[in-house]
Amino acid sequence: MVASLLQEARLVGAIDPKALATFDLVARRRNGLAVAEAKDGICTICHVRLRPQIFNTVRRNEEIIQCDTCQRILYFVPQAHSATQPAP
Ligand SMILES: [Zn+2]
Repeated sequence: MVASLLQEARLVGAIDPKALATFDLVARRRNGLAVAEAKDGICTICHVRLRPQIFNTVRRNEEIIQCDTCQRILYFVPQAHSATQPAP
């Protein structure tokens, strides 16, 4: 499960190599679940509404943003992303 989450995060480009240290740290603290999808402005793990500014930053996938509440690394999956299609 953890590996698949990491793989998914990599596919959407949310996790870059220099972020892996942060990822690893959060994973150890959170029983291996270090990432949370940000969807519709909400952290899908703890269901807390993110501030619009935070969500916009997550959507750009340019920097690592952690959920204020659960501390997981937030990533955004564009609507076009489909599990049945291989990553380009
Ligand atoms: Zn959260």
